[in-house]
Amino acid sequence: MNKIRLTKRFDFEAAHSLTGYDGACRYIHGHSYTLYVTVIGVPSTDKSNPKHGMVVDFGILKQIIKENITDRFDHCLMLRKDSPLSHEIKSEYRKVELFDFQPTCENILLYFVEILKNSLPDTVFLHSLKLSETRSSFAEWYLSDQII
Ligand SMILES: [Zn+2]
Repeated sequence: MNKIRLTKRFDFEAAHSLTGYDGACRYIHGHSYTLYVTVIGVPSTDKSNPKHGMVVDFGILKQIIKENITDRFDHCLMLRKDSPLSHEIKSEYRKVELFDFQPTCENILLYFVEILKNSLPDTVFLHSLKLSETRSSFAEWYLSDQII
C-alpha cells in the first residue's frame, strides 16, 4: 500500500485576545492565519471511480475546510468566554467565537483537529495540521505524536 500525504493551505484573517496573559497579546489584535491541512491515504485504484488516482479530491478537501473552518473563522474575533464583556461584544459584533479555552495558536489548532476528525471522508485520515499566526510563529499537531 503506497500511502500518500496530501496538503492544502488555507488563509484567513481573525482577531483574538488572550485574557490574563502577561504580554501584548492580552489586547485585541488581528492575525493573518495560515492553516495547512495534511491528510493521508491510498490513491484510488478503481478505474470506474471519477476520483481514480486520487487520495481525496483537493476540491472536496477545500469544500470541507471552507464549510467547517474558514467561513466560520474568517474575520471573526476569538475570545475566552469569561473575558470582560464577551457576551455583549458577541451580541453587538456577531462574528465572535467564545471558547472555554484561551484562544492561543495551540488551542485553536486543537479545536480545528476536533472539527476535522469528524468531517473528513472515510477514505483518509487526518495526518497533521499546522497553524501559523505570523510568518515566524506556528503550531503543529501530528497524529503520530498522539500515539507515542
Ligand atoms: Zn495574537
